[in-house]
Amino acid sequence: MAKLKNLQDLRNEIEMCVKCGACRAHCPVFGVEKHEGRVARGKVALAHAVLDQTIDFEPKMIEDISQCLLCGSCYAQCPNKVPTDEIIAATRRQIAADHGLNSFGKGVAALLGRPRLMNNLAKAGRFLSPLFFKKLPENSGLRLRFPAPWIEADRTLPPIASKPFRDTVPEFIAGDPNMPTVAFFSGCGINYMYPAIGEAFLKVLKFLGVNVFIPKEQACCGLPAVSAGAQATVEQLALQNLSALSAQRVDFVVTACASCHSGIGKLYSDLGTDYQTLAAKTRDIFVFLVEHGLPEKLSSLPATGKRTRVTYHDPCHLRSHGIVSEPRQILQAIPNIDFVEMAEAGTCCGLGGTYSVHHYQTSKKIGAKKAAHILASGADLVATNCPGCIMQLQDSINHAQGRQRSVHILELLVAALE
Ligand code: SF4
Ligand code: SF4
Repeated sequence: MAKLKNLQDLRNEIEMCVKCGACRAHCPVFGVEKHEGRVARGKVALAHAVLDQTIDFEPKMIEDISQCLLCGSCYAQCPNKVPTDEIIAATRRQIAADHGLNSFGKGVAALLGRPRLMNNLAKAGRFLSPLFFKKLPENSGLRLRFPAPWIEADRTLPPIASKPFRDTVPEFIAGDPNMPTVAFFSGCGINYMYPAIGEAFLKVLKFLGVNVFIPKEQACCGLPAVSAGAQATVEQLALQNLSALSAQRVDFVVTACASCHSGIGKLYSDLGTDYQTLAAKTRDIFVFLVEHGLPEKLSSLPATGKRTRVTYHDPCHLRSHGIVSEPRQILQAIPNIDFVEMAEAGTCCGLGGTYSVHHYQTSKKIGAKKAAHILASGADLVATNCPGCIMQLQDSINHAQGRQRSVHILELLVAALE
């Protein structure tokens, strides 16, 4: 099986760090914690010490390495383009190899590799959630009634879908034979928590006449396992997704989740040429829609009804791939939407995959900064392109007692088309 890079493979990259500290100003964790162990420079130095065996894995060092959102902001600003997120992820894998996964990492590894078990747990969770969760006003989420492992009492969460999205749709939806055929990689967030985004995806592609496969055998992209340091799980999921997404001849693999786009579009490309072919075919939905002329088609739709003021949050996993203009282009082309740019739209929301589970209080402080910018923008809605960001943004807005809702751009698009 193809293997992810280990720390030894990244020695040259680690030694490219000149300790200039330029990353300090751009790290969301350092921005709220002000501690050298929280910034990329400190973590790269720890990775170097691990490589040279001048340090042992001790609890403080493990804590420092866990204090990273893998957001890539430091890489974007680094003069030497040190791939800090790759180095930190490889250090977590090394820690897991030497000391075993922590309890949450074990849970992630056990669940993600077993989609059937995930489906059954989601069904049980949906059935039991009225017992454990109470509804918040204005449909802005759920809050726990009782203490539970890994979920802090003041966190708000979306409900689990009554049925996983992929159980509700056929495996192929025919469109116009002259239009491309795509595979929809829906990911876990859409499958288990936000099926309406998946439905919106299908309606928009139907409007364009695109042929769509929704492979049943697809699994999690593996990013939560990257964050947890669960190497074998990432490699197993990559293999499973390669097989599911290669089973049919498609022109593109399209995602509506920034993290999934990063997973199959970048993470896998280190694993060999088959994965590189998959990565080359992978498109974010808004890149695909712009390439296929949707903004021009939207401009012919009538603008009737109430206008809505909408701002946009850049998910880290799109911003770090240079995908910033296409989502805005689509948003600005939707009739009845007044687009307004918020301050610091490109900074991380504070989710960071499993980071927000281990470090919710820091994640909340980062989210509070983002919520303040959303509220100051005067927008009614914050739109984005990542189910994880939608969850974190809504939680942050709830804590700030804002009236705004966080939504996926596809939901706004479908409302306009309908
Ligand atoms: S990671 Fe890059 S920006 Fe940060 S200290 Fe090293 S060289 Fe400078
Ligand atoms: S990836 Fe993000 S959170 Fe991690 S060190 Fe870099 S800027 Fe900070």
